[in-house]
Amino acid sequence: MLYYYKSILAMETVLVTGGFGLVGNAIQRIEKNEKMRFVYISSSEFDLCDMDATKKMFDKYNPDYVIHLAACVGGLFKNMTRKIDMFEKNIQINYNVVKCCHDFHIKKLVACLSTCIFPDKTTYPIDETMLHDGPPHESNDAYAYAKRMLEMHCRIYRENFGDNFVCVIPTNIYGPNDNFNLEDAHVIPALIHKCYLAKEADIDFVVRGSGTPLRQFIYSDDLAHLLLYTLFSNSFADNVILSVDESEEVSIKDVALLISKRFAYDNRIVFDKAFDDGQYKKTASNERLRQICPDFQFLSIDEGIQYTVDWFIENYKIARK
Ligand code: NAP
Ligand code: GDP
Repeated sequence: MLYYYKSILAMETVLVTGGFGLVGNAIQRIEKNEKMRFVYISSSEFDLCDMDATKKMFDKYNPDYVIHLAACVGGLFKNMTRKIDMFEKNIQINYNVVKCCHDFHIKKLVACLSTCIFPDKTTYPIDETMLHDGPPHESNDAYAYAKRMLEMHCRIYRENFGDNFVCVIPTNIYGPNDNFNLEDAHVIPALIHKCYLAKEADIDFVVRGSGTPLRQFIYSDDLAHLLLYTLFSNSFADNVILSVDESEEVSIKDVALLISKRFAYDNRIVFDKAFDDGQYKKTASNERLRQICPDFQFLSIDEGIQYTVDWFIENYKIARK
């Protein structure tokens, strides 16, 4: 466990945008400090695409700290088919939230980027200095450029106004409360849902693409701990990659096998190569994180997938899908 509350005064407010999504729910699960007020925002309370609504949110809760998670998020196939939403909504949400964090004199903002916004043609491992070094992969360029502008916006306020605005760069995230939609979801939740349905119908478990692309995956509760640590520790002054070690990188085929084994349905996997593979890999270095948190123990992908499959089965009726 990391000690992330030591310098905090009593009864300050932390506002979490996107507070009921995958990562927001993980913060709700692990956050135990009774001296802080955590406020979790859903889009039904405030539409952050709307500047007036965003100002009302800041007026209402008067936050000291902001963890900005709200975003139009999705897997490869949503990124490819919904580019205008991925661009416009994310530009609007990020612009409104970051500007209000400055105008309302927030003590610290932690905003969320993603390792998928790095250049496509690059050297590996990717590190924090390489974010703007070339175009992102074309499959998710709309989302990536919107996120890159979030980084720019935070950097300008940090450099020109001294604002304590930090961007974290998580790798692929998964866990309970994810979006399990068959078309829009990221690969782990999409494949969990597909395997569940395949087993029920006694049909093949179809995995899109070749299965060869490589990814690093972080369990949502691990990311939640690291986000709170980033918010309260002042260890990171600007951007930091929050990822498992490079040695934990796995293929999509590995992931499909782990999921289907948990369902005891690993003899019916089929790869449909008519679908896109997306970016082959985006191997990220967590050296900056490891310098500060050398002993942080990440949950293994085997255990994380077991927990997530079990959560999905138990919560099938209420899961986002
Ligand atoms: P998520 O489960 O989709 O949660 C995002 C939340 O944003 C949603 O719950 C949604 O709230 C909220 N939101 C969307 N549009 C909004 C709007 N117009 N106004 C207010 N709220 C809005 O996503 P996540 O996976 O937790 O992602 C958290 C952050 O991590 C995002 O910034 C994402 O870009 C980043 N990230 C995610 C991954 C990944 O693999 N999932 C990887 C790297 C980085 P409602 O549910 O209330 O509508
Ligand atoms: P990415 O890591 O940003 O590319 O996004 P995803 O989490 O969507 O992972 C995409 C990778 O998983 C690609 O190689 C896809 O071909 C593969 N994949 C296999 N089946 C699926 C599926 O049902 N949904 C998604 N989103 N990806 C899948």
